[in-house]
Amino acid sequence: MSKERLFELRKLITRYNYEYHVLDAPTISDIDYDHLYRELEELEAKYPEEYDANSPTNRVGGVVLDGFVKVTHQRMMMSLGDIFSYEEVKNWCDRVENEIGKCSYCVECKIDGLAMSIHYHNGRFFKAVTRGDGNVGEDVTNNVRTIKSIPMEIGYDGDIEIRGEVYMPRKVLAKLNEGRKDDEKFANCRNAAAGSIRQLDSKIAASRNLDAFWYHIPAGQNIIIHSQSDALKWMKDKGFKVNPLYQLLDNADQIWEYIQNIQNMRDDLPYDIDGVVIKVNDYNLQQQLGFTSRTPRWAIAYKFPAETALTTCEDIFITVGRTGKCTPNAKLKPVKLAGSVVGYATLHNEDQIKLKDIRVNDIVEIRKAGDIIPEVIRSLADKRNSDSKPYEFPKVCPICHMPLHRFEDEAAHYCINNDCPARVSSSIAHFASRDAMNIDGLGEKRVEKFHEMGWLNSIEDIYHLDRFEKDIVSLNKFGQKTFDNLILAIENSKHNTLDKLIYGLGIRQVGEKAAKVLANRFETMDELMKATKEELETISDIGTITADAIVSYFSDEANIKCIEGLKAVNVNMIMPKQNKHESYFTNKKVVLTGTLNKYSRKEASELLEKNGAIMVSSVSKKTDIVIYGSEAGSKLDKARSLNIQIMDEDEFESLIEE
Ligand code: NAD
Repeated sequence: MSKERLFELRKLITRYNYEYHVLDAPTISDIDYDHLYRELEELEAKYPEEYDANSPTNRVGGVVLDGFVKVTHQRMMMSLGDIFSYEEVKNWCDRVENEIGKCSYCVECKIDGLAMSIHYHNGRFFKAVTRGDGNVGEDVTNNVRTIKSIPMEIGYDGDIEIRGEVYMPRKVLAKLNEGRKDDEKFANCRNAAAGSIRQLDSKIAASRNLDAFWYHIPAGQNIIIHSQSDALKWMKDKGFKVNPLYQLLDNADQIWEYIQNIQNMRDDLPYDIDGVVIKVNDYNLQQQLGFTSRTPRWAIAYKFPAETALTTCEDIFITVGRTGKCTPNAKLKPVKLAGSVVGYATLHNEDQIKLKDIRVNDIVEIRKAGDIIPEVIRSLADKRNSDSKPYEFPKVCPICHMPLHRFEDEAAHYCINNDCPARVSSSIAHFASRDAMNIDGLGEKRVEKFHEMGWLNSIEDIYHLDRFEKDIVSLNKFGQKTFDNLILAIENSKHNTLDKLIYGLGIRQVGEKAAKVLANRFETMDELMKATKEELETISDIGTITADAIVSYFSDEANIKCIEGLKAVNVNMIMPKQNKHESYFTNKKVVLTGTLNKYSRKEASELLEKNGAIMVSSVSKKTDIVIYGSEAGSKLDKARSLNIQIMDEDEFESLIEE
């Protein structure tokens, strides 16, 4: 245990936090993450002189994404400390009771989704904010409003904030993943829920059928409640969905029994849970215990161990995705795990194989920790034959045999040959997929077949499939009707909006959200193609890596040719302008400050933009109007001092109505 390791861990954990909280695409399992986190905590305790307020152990793990209005939480949204065994449960209860004496505990399921804060004014829902970095979150009101179980009206006068967990029910995830390739599947309910809540288009969020459980009324509000169990009852009475499995318990042994029971029923629940949360029930006692910099001292999360099994790794093989990303997988001797038979597991990337030293013919331990795709945790090195050799990651693509490439700062290898058959067929299938150009009848298997037959060698070929009518119609299981439907779906896809096309092109790093941002910003494909890296970087939501990927995509002649080919068959390359009305606000630079009663920041901004306003975030001489709500601070003062027109919510509303 050395200081170097301490610094290395801070760096590693910061990277994993980014992948998990920003990209919603973790590259290590939660259990491995939790071990590394523990190790860092131990090292920091050993070397107190290396204290750093910015260490991941002193910060709540999330970040605030651009593209959403940022909201400062009135009360910090904290994380929870975690424990993993009976001894730790017992020690935690002992510590608590040493400080405050005997107490009772409200013990609840730890729902595996994302934390959400929702706000009501005079009984009306008006705002929803993600946890973000604990201090500042993202305004996701429009998306949260689509969750049908959340009451929009509650019988309560005044302001109140409620917190809970937004999650994706297991059945919904299964449906969402249907027909997606392994490397495009959402890994688990949590990632899918977080990705859905961060959609800029609330129609997409609505289609994801999210749900939510509510478990917390933050202290310091104008409401008289004395305990956690009373808070749960209060919320239930007001129509909030409260998880029914909570119990009031008196000691560590009872808590441990509860944990065992919940663990036994875990697989049968319709939603994912990853542990149990233990909370001191009485609010006064909670107050006595207080908080650390990132967690309450009156609550702790017990995390379930993952379900594991031992089996033989019969082979290691690489799959090539549409971006050329090469993922190593273990072919396993089939084994039963968490209710299903598992024959394959992901090995993530070369670094993970090396770190765990996984070799062909090894006995390996695999696990499924709420994730769809199982993974190999470790190899039993002492059980392997003496002639066993470390696995060597291939230097060339297993499909086209061209050299593989590893980009700086990325763990994955890529096949960068645009003509690689694996890449070609998966990129065509991606182009045709539901979330991209939505060409019904052109799924992965069919694309592979057409590619094999030589009819589909590029995205443009989709629009010339009618040349092969005779051959296709005579294919097994095809007929004239299926063919006609396919051609109709292809024809319809020409009218999609530009964002669908950009997403469909499969530019590295450009997902649905970025595609929409780019389409709205540039409005035509020609303008986007001309964009420089510097210009792209000024757009919120587009970072350096994405800007690089876009510029490099459009500097490749093959891609230009593809776009020209699509233009030639009249595929739409334009984003319809968002309908803007002429109004009082047209072409005026407007700043919003403080909390509005009837609109979230995002709603007000959208409304103003629709009415022609140019939204800006800070007040300067060039600002035309500052609209203020309650608790407006320095921006309002500055507007006054610069003699800029100010207006309250009522005036703003009446001018919009005019
Ligand atoms: P956490 O998920 O361990 O626990 C805190 C969260 O639990 C709260 O914010 C709340 O959202 C949730 N929760 C669910 N039910 C609750 C209930 N009944 N009462 C109170 N809270 C409840 O902590 P975190 O800070 O959200 O995330 C850290 C964890 O995320 C890590 O321990 C790790 O497991 C995982 N993680 C994984 C990676 C990775 O790369 N795999 C990276 C970062 C974080």
